[in-house]
Amino acid sequence: MEGISRLFRLAADHAAAFRRSLPDRPVGTPIDPGVLAEAFGGPLASSPTPPEQVLADLVRSAEPGLVANAGPRYFGFVVGGALPAATAADMLAAGWDQIGHNAVTSPAAIAAEAAAGSWLKELLGIPASASVGFVTGCQAANTVGLAAARHQVLAEAGWDVERRGLLGAPPIRVIGGDERHATIDRSLRLLGLGTDVVEPVPAGPNGAIDLGALRDVLRAGSAGPTIVCLQAGNVNTGACDQLREACELVHRHGGWAHVDGAFGLWAAASPATRHLVDGVELADSWACDGHKWLNLPYDSAFAFCSRPDVHGAAMSYAAAYLVGSGGAPVGSDLTAESSRRARGFAAWAGLRELGRDGVAALVDRCCALAGRFADGLTSAGFEVVNEVVLNQVLVGFGDDAHTDRVVAAVQADGTCWVGGTTWRGRRLMRISVSNATTTEADVDRSVAAITRLAA
Ligand SMILES: *Cc1c(COP(=O)(O)O)cnc(C)c1O
Repeated sequence: MEGISRLFRLAADHAAAFRRSLPDRPVGTPIDPGVLAEAFGGPLASSPTPPEQVLADLVRSAEPGLVANAGPRYFGFVVGGALPAATAADMLAAGWDQIGHNAVTSPAAIAAEAAAGSWLKELLGIPASASVGFVTGCQAANTVGLAAARHQVLAEAGWDVERRGLLGAPPIRVIGGDERHATIDRSLRLLGLGTDVVEPVPAGPNGAIDLGALRDVLRAGSAGPTIVCLQAGNVNTGACDQLREACELVHRHGGWAHVDGAFGLWAAASPATRHLVDGVELADSWACDGHKWLNLPYDSAFAFCSRPDVHGAAMSYAAAYLVGSGGAPVGSDLTAESSRRARGFAAWAGLRELGRDGVAALVDRCCALAGRFADGLTSAGFEVVNEVVLNQVLVGFGDDAHTDRVVAAVQADGTCWVGGTTWRGRRLMRISVSNATTTEADVDRSVAAITRLAA
């Protein structure tokens, strides 16, 4: 047993050394994939390899292909860091090897989920009576939320979709904003609804759903089973749909309102941004990420449902050998997985590490830093095309080809990492400030690098 302590300490030391190197190492070093393929490849050995040797080989092979996305100058996609206590808790989840299925497979995992779930609802403005499933990412959370929606709108039409499926079911209307996240469409595919079903609603100037257009689309069709996909945090602009008015419209029509709030739902956690998600409590289901703005380690997200009975009816299953199932839905009754990583430990630890004020400060700081990016790049003569309401900044550098060249040059330079996107037919640089360790100096250094490379 001496061996396992040494091994785990070595792994922790490697992880810590990597994390300490993040502020200074190049962000996103270009590497020939062949080098990694060779390092990891070769035939499977027929005989065992000592664990310490395996670990040393892994570290040596992976090192050149690791991305510094947990570092302070990674502004690609919407990527948070990984808070220290949350990361350590996640290491324990692996070390303890707990099965987050239910209170029989791991009472501790379920208790951590229950506590973290209550705190999350309080922070996000979601009713305390809602249920929470701890899932892998917002993709999975959207699927679970929409499965609950599918269950309920069909149940109201007298159809048991879990038993009878969709063949012969009453048609479901699905309404979604033009600028919804692409994972909504994949969730609809997985749920057997397909993507053609979506009745698109145009977006307003900054990418939030146009309420008048939503009203028109709702009125134009039948009053049968209806699901409306709303959004808090447009993945390009950060814009949030007007949830209060939108949910009221949907409910007047008898529909189910699902909110994809992967990162934008965190606006609720700060008094300074809470107004952006006013009315969030009125929705029927919510999807939110932990590994984005909350800075939990990958992977982590939450699927909330206003009706625990509906949530459980859509997702749970029973089996004769499964002790501990059949009561109020917990753990895997609320997700699409059966055996499951105990993600509640990292969520609980991250929330304790920050506290309520720490979460609010994290949201405020990222928004202020996004504003600093926008000001700096505007002063340098570049065009910020979105209204920076949260942590997302879109920048144009003249024509599309030049913008793509600037994005590529910034990625190759390594001072910081930004992505590219197409929004409203234009190629743009996309900056997302979501990391708890990013400072004003990091933003200033990045603005200087972008300015130098764009010249
Ligand atoms: C990132 C994102 C998703 C998908 O989340 P994953 O964690 O990658 O599964 C869904 N919706 C929005 C708005 C997002 O920003």
